[in-house]
Amino acid sequence: MADGYRGRFAPSPTGPLHFGSLVAAVGSWLDARRHNGKWLVRIEDIDEPRCVPGADTLILKTLEAYGLEWDEEVVRQTRRHPLYAAAVEALKAHTFPCACTRKEVGDRYPGTCRNGIPPDREPRAIRLRVPDDMACGDFVLRRADGLYAYQLVVVVDDAAQGITHVVRGADLLDSTPPQIYLHQLLNAPVPTYIHLPIATNAAGEKLSKQTKAPAIPPNGDLQTLKEALRFLGEEPLHTAATCRELLVQTIR
Ligand code: GLU
Repeated sequence: MADGYRGRFAPSPTGPLHFGSLVAAVGSWLDARRHNGKWLVRIEDIDEPRCVPGADTLILKTLEAYGLEWDEEVVRQTRRHPLYAAAVEALKAHTFPCACTRKEVGDRYPGTCRNGIPPDREPRAIRLRVPDDMACGDFVLRRADGLYAYQLVVVVDDAAQGITHVVRGADLLDSTPPQIYLHQLLNAPVPTYIHLPIATNAAGEKLSKQTKAPAIPPNGDLQTLKEALRFLGEEPLHTAATCRELLVQTIR
């Protein structure tokens, strides 16, 4: 296909890959390869206090071991602060300084600082004003601790990397409308969003660091890859001897 499909997998290096992250990686890789497109990897290390040293290297090695080869150089958010600063500047007409804590915003949606900070308060964060008919409320672009917020950096990166298709877990569904809105404000083409079903544990909880999801075998395990493919509704063939072979067979 010649429409220049560009997909991506964007793990946060907060720990090793678990089954849920493998499903997201395989789902986005397969969609990209079936469209004869590029598949990029972006390390989402913007929230440095949450990052675990060495997790980025481990994630990349694990992706390779499962045959998930990527195109182009791996991008790291910690090296892109000037891009995010420029985006906040470009959005100036739509932002306001906000003194509210998260709890206060929850209590007094859509936040009290939209029309000015109360005289006895100090600005904490920079927030984006969104239309009242959008369910997400005014959201933060630059946090009280000075870090750029997830919604902003993902959009800036997807736009800068020319991502045309975002294939990710349905746990991020609520992030999609605010991200589409940001793309529009930044005059960037809006990617196509596809949300994959979420893998859960026996208690029905999403697999994550918080729910103590076990790491997948880092050296590439054919059975684990088959399970991920079955989870995505694929019927993996049994003739492959390696993860790479199985993935390539599955593109078909
Ligand atoms: N870094 C996010 C995560 O690991 C994913 C972001 C995305 O795919 O948009 O949950």
